[in-house]
Amino acid sequence: MPFWSTARLRAYTQLDKEVRWLGVKGDKGGTALTGWVTKQRCRDGVFKQASVVHGQDAKALSGKRLCPSTLSVTSDCLPPMTARKSKSNAPQMTDAQRTQIIRQQVSALGDAARARHPWLAHQNAIGLAIQLGAIAGMGLCSWLYLTGSLPWWGAIPLIGILASLTHEIEHDLIHLLYFKNRPWVQHALLLLGWLSRPSTVNPWVRRQMHFHHHKKSGHSSDFEERAITNGEPWGLKRFLMTADSMLSIVLRPLTMRKVVREYIREAEKPRNRAEWRAASLRKLLSFMPLGHAFWAAWHAFVLFHVVDLGASWLGQPVAWPPEVLSAMSVLNAVTVCLIAPNIVRNFSLHFISSNMHYYGNVEPGNVLQQTQVLNHPLFWPLQLFCFNFGATHAIHHFVVGQPFYLRQMIASEALPILRSHGVFFNDLGTFGRANRLAQAHTTSATSRKAEQPVAAAA
Ligand SMILES: [Zn+2]
Ligand SMILES: [Zn+2]
Repeated sequence: MPFWSTARLRAYTQLDKEVRWLGVKGDKGGTALTGWVTKQRCRDGVFKQASVVHGQDAKALSGKRLCPSTLSVTSDCLPPMTARKSKSNAPQMTDAQRTQIIRQQVSALGDAARARHPWLAHQNAIGLAIQLGAIAGMGLCSWLYLTGSLPWWGAIPLIGILASLTHEIEHDLIHLLYFKNRPWVQHALLLLGWLSRPSTVNPWVRRQMHFHHHKKSGHSSDFEERAITNGEPWGLKRFLMTADSMLSIVLRPLTMRKVVREYIREAEKPRNRAEWRAASLRKLLSFMPLGHAFWAAWHAFVLFHVVDLGASWLGQPVAWPPEVLSAMSVLNAVTVCLIAPNIVRNFSLHFISSNMHYYGNVEPGNVLQQTQVLNHPLFWPLQLFCFNFGATHAIHHFVVGQPFYLRQMIASEALPILRSHGVFFNDLGTFGRANRLAQAHTTSATSRKAEQPVAAAA
């Protein structure tokens, strides 16, 4: 008889239909074990693809087949959400405890995936292959477009999707996940990533900004997120600032000045005026030289075509000098092959990221409050250009040491863990609250779970 057909097991699964944690206690080769397993498939009474993600002997069993005959359901290894939902005896967990449990379980899911797929151990080679493959793919699409084999409307999204892979590699490199002992390879890969995504800030400047983001996510000194409009009220101005990184500075100079000053004070801790000046200068030049060239070229492209089309519609076409026309034919090609794909990618990433991070009333260091999971079908077109960022970045806030492809591989098991511990899903109200949490939460995640917005059911 299948193991899960027992009455108690049914009771467990009914408690949380999505999570499907199953408490187990048993004996394997004479070794007692207690823990719980997830994502079981039972065929002919034998567990397939079971992963023990917590328990005394979790490591020994991780990724191995479990035989139901050696396991029995027991009440003393209830998973945490079962204890939380019980009216009796269960103490409320703090957010710090929940964060710790999420970290353990998500890390264990990563370990189990690594055990199931030994090729994941070749992390450097995988990172290198993705970076070089994505850039080669961008080159191939550009060549197909320039030779007339691929229309512009095919080239732009394809190149944008490939460029989004280089963004993920840059983020992993920032966390030292590839070539830890060979910095020159890291620098070379960062440079290649920046050349393929020139719309962004210098990745070496971004490294410190990103580490600070993990420390102070949701706070006024979180330069990385504030720069891409996290925390701003929604409207036409935020839309323009999400689409254009230069407008994001030009349209709110005082706000950005304050953010930069707070960031420098907290992250770089300058000791004198000279250090302040040097730090400010580094921020001022963080787009130099690629970012400024990229945005100048984009603005020139938009300006030319607006004037040209506008004048034609008014019946007064502009007689452009031949030098301008030949320069524009080059700029048009560069726009299709590099600029427009990055505009689409940049907007998608900034829109998703700035709305899945909370801002303003996040408790210091409370990871549960820093992010939500945005995986509503509404966002699928944008997720395509940022490697499903909205669905998986919250996982990264808990466990930073997993490469982006591993995070995606375990997402279907990791997201229910986040949900069961109170991380919000598809809290679309954030758009109306300028990314503030629904209320200043100082209580445990249980109350947040109870307040999950209607969209979370989607
Ligand atoms: Zn983040
Ligand atoms: Zn990170």
